[in-house]
Amino acid sequence: MNNECEAVHNLARSLERQCFPFDESNIPSNGIYILFEKGEEGHVGERIVRVGTHTGANQLCSRLKQHFINNNKDRSIFRKNIGRALLNQNGDPFLKFWELDLTTRKARKNYSSLIDFGYQKSIEEQVSQYIQCNFTFCVFEVNSKDERLEIESKIISTVSMCVGCNPSKTWLGNFSPKHKIIESGLWLVNELYKTPLDTFGIEHLSRLVKG
Ligand SMILES: [Zn+2]
Repeated sequence: MNNECEAVHNLARSLERQCFPFDESNIPSNGIYILFEKGEEGHVGERIVRVGTHTGANQLCSRLKQHFINNNKDRSIFRKNIGRALLNQNGDPFLKFWELDLTTRKARKNYSSLIDFGYQKSIEEQVSQYIQCNFTFCVFEVNSKDERLEIESKIISTVSMCVGCNPSKTWLGNFSPKHKIIESGLWLVNELYKTPLDTFGIEHLSRLVKG
């Protein structure tokens, strides 16, 4: 799997790199994003640490904003996981409140007496700052939802099954309470170790990336 993973890394690195604050006109309406993180290396260059996409039509930019900008952990599993690792790294007991999903009005009502919302906001700000300062990404267009989900899954499987790119000793993900994140070296818990890209898959991806 190492050769296919190396090919994915080379394709991703060949694309224009976006960083915060990103120019929305550089983001296609529909597609896949690949994240790199400061200090993380593999395959003689920057290491892929997350791959993601969106399900709703024309939502790629909005999805990226949910990760990079919107201070709401319950709308972004990526933010939730960065927060978990930051809190766990500091031995912060707020971690158990960070885990609660406050999306519904009922949940907010039930938990409102337990949660220090001022403190939660400060953690959200730390998460935004960490993401904005440490992650860059590339994007490529994939218009069909089924194709997006299939390619996302295969890239994730390819990178997770590779033994040629590993997290650094100082990687924040090493502090994650989620074993799958530590084990895979990726800010992901789904689509790991499933069906990776084969030679044809890499050729197809190459055509997509080159537009
Ligand atoms: Zn690899």
